[in-house]
Amino acid sequence: MQYTERVSRLESEGAFIVLARAKQMECEGRSVIHLQIGEPDFDTPKNICDVGIKAIRDGYTHYAPSGGIPEARDVAAEYISKARNIKLSPEQVIIMPGCKPLIFGAMVALINEGDEVIVPNPGYPTYRSVTKFLGAKPVPVKLREENDFRFLVDDLNALVTPKTRMIILNSPENPSGGMLTWEDFEAIYETAVKHDLWVLSDEIYSRIIYDVEFKSIASIPGAMERTIIIDGLSKTFAMTGWRLGYAAMPKKLAEYMFTLAVNNFSSTATFTQHAMIEALTGPQDEIDRMVAEFRRRRDVIVAGLNEIDGISCLKPEGAFYVFPNITKTGMNSNEFADTMLEQAGVACLSGTAFGEYGEGYVRFSYANSVKNIKEALSRIRRTLAKA
Ligand code: PMP
Repeated sequence: MQYTERVSRLESEGAFIVLARAKQMECEGRSVIHLQIGEPDFDTPKNICDVGIKAIRDGYTHYAPSGGIPEARDVAAEYISKARNIKLSPEQVIIMPGCKPLIFGAMVALINEGDEVIVPNPGYPTYRSVTKFLGAKPVPVKLREENDFRFLVDDLNALVTPKTRMIILNSPENPSGGMLTWEDFEAIYETAVKHDLWVLSDEIYSRIIYDVEFKSIASIPGAMERTIIIDGLSKTFAMTGWRLGYAAMPKKLAEYMFTLAVNNFSSTATFTQHAMIEALTGPQDEIDRMVAEFRRRRDVIVAGLNEIDGISCLKPEGAFYVFPNITKTGMNSNEFADTMLEQAGVACLSGTAFGEYGEGYVRFSYANSVKNIKEALSRIRRTLAKA
């Protein structure tokens, strides 16, 4: 049987590959500490679950409108607008089952074959994979450790060609935890206007930040003409399995996204959108508690890694990942990640799972307990001492 060449261009995600191997090791009776997963280990707050369960009981179990139920689009428009000091209308907002289909849909609607898309590297692998799937070329812009894992706007400008169609931003960033500054956004926006580019701004970690204020390129006056804000409930509200994301965009694009939903999955589940309204408008103290706990874990893992010979680690301002430099261990990123999994029973991801500029680094997720993080740190230390 034959398969399309197109589908072979899609890449898998390192986190899922490592998870499969780690599970296999656990079946063989080995202990593995999971620091590879990109999802909060907390339960979804009870008030949100209660509303979701009640919605099922109340009969919200039918198809929803393809762009999302009107009440949820209203609430999302207001919620996104408030944090970015902009004014969005509900027609500019689309709800889908997670940020991933929103990223996919927006790229399907905006990228032609032969276009170039500037993607952060090391960066979330989906951007590169979907670009290739669409027959376009991912152009990596290097995130620099010496620049707190921000890219230099001069580097970006040097990569723009007449074929460039889109710039993808992700701040706070997966895998590095780095955040772009307001000055970065202003300079990036200038480039986008000059070359008439779309900006896809993946802001899924917008609320998992420490001691800093969240900033979005969308807050620049006029930016919403060419910007797609992607955000969702997976990370902030510990709702990965609910599959809920929302995005803001120009109205015309929202119409195309609506039609993409019609042809793909019809609609996002109806009862989960009721839970989403509760998440966005209900009490927020659980979120504050989760972020405070993430901060505590970040401080433990950063301090612990920096005490290990051969490893140095910046303290990120956002997300729940650290991206330490492991070059002085003498191993490359793949060797380090394999050694940690097979010998130490610590699952992490090679930096190269996020692109070539991830060489020399690994990603640890600290969405795990302080106890497990401390155990992982001593296993890493012991394993490196033996190597
Ligand atoms: N963007 C980034 C940067 C992510 O890290 C993730 C999840 N790993 C997603 C998007 C996808 O999130 P969702 O669960 O909403 O599809």
